[in-house]
Amino acid sequence: MKPVGTGRYSIGQKRCQVCEIFLTWEGLWCPCCGYRLRTRPRNMKYKAKLQARKKIERARSIAVYERPPIQARQKHIVHKRHLCINV
Ligand SMILES: [Zn+2]
Repeated sequence: MKPVGTGRYSIGQKRCQVCEIFLTWEGLWCPCCGYRLRTRPRNMKYKAKLQARKKIERARSIAVYERPPIQARQKHIVHKRHLCINV
């Protein structure tokens, strides 16, 4: 059964990021791959900060990749011309 609310960590399950599974295990290390297990979700504040930063970084990279400079300039010129005709 999947626990609700705070999740699996709160009922003592641990997360192996390598195997991508939750397991009930006493040790600190994954019994199948030997990787260090996560016993609790990361600090909420830190997580929020990190997500905010990721969001900004993603927005920045999108801005860089989705901005075709030449087309944007042409659009601007067309817009200007349009204004001139109107005036
Ligand atoms: Zn593992």
